[in-house]
Amino acid sequence: MEEKAFFNLSYGVFVLGANLDGKINACITNTCMQVANDPTRIAIAAINTNLTCEMIKKSGTFSLSVLDKDTTFDTIKHFGYQSGRNVDKFADFAYELDANKNPYIKKQICSLLTCKIISSTDLGTHSLFIAEVQDAKVMSDKAPITYADYQKDIKPKTKVQTDKKIIGWRCKICGYELNESNLPSDFVCPICGHPADDFEPIYAD
Ligand code: FE
Repeated sequence: MEEKAFFNLSYGVFVLGANLDGKINACITNTCMQVANDPTRIAIAAINTNLTCEMIKKSGTFSLSVLDKDTTFDTIKHFGYQSGRNVDKFADFAYELDANKNPYIKKQICSLLTCKIISSTDLGTHSLFIAEVQDAKVMSDKAPITYADYQKDIKPKTKVQTDKKIIGWRCKICGYELNESNLPSDFVCPICGHPADDFEPIYAD
C-alpha cells in the first residue's frame, strides 16, 4: 500500500480543542466532514493516545478550528508535534474559549465549530466521533488549507543524506525508534499512530 496515495484525499487540517475540568489542550486532526443536516452533524477522528482525544471522550464536547491559508508550520508543530502531557500549549498562544469553554486559536482560522459528541467508535489507532454542531462561525475570509496543501506546501520535507548509512528511523512526534535501515512507506508509529512521513533517519556515526 502506498501511504502517499492518502495525501491526495482532499480533507482539511483542523485544530481540535478540549477542556476537561478546567485544563485546556488541543491537537491537530486532518479528519472532519459534515455528515448530516438538521441537526447539523460532523464526523471527526482523533488518535487514541492523544491527550486531546482522551479529554473529549470524558468531557463530551470539543471546538474545531478550520485552518486557513495563512497557517504556518510552526502552528501545526505547536499543536501537532508535542503533547499536552508535557507542555501547556496555550501558555504562549493566543486563544479564546467557546460556549463549552473549549479553546480555539485566534489567528490562521477561517471557521470555528462548537460541538457536542453524540457517539464515538474505537477504530484501533483512532476514535471516530459523531458530533452535533451547536454553533458555527466564519472567522476570516481566507480559504481553508487542504491536507494536500499541508503535505505539499507547509510541511518541510525530510532531507535524507544519501552519503551516510541509515541504521534506523526516529518518529519526530514521539521519539519512537525503529532499528531497521528500511522504513516501509505504510509504516505507522506503534506509539503515537503517525505515518512513515513523520520519521527521520538515524545515521551510523
Ligand atoms: Fe510516534
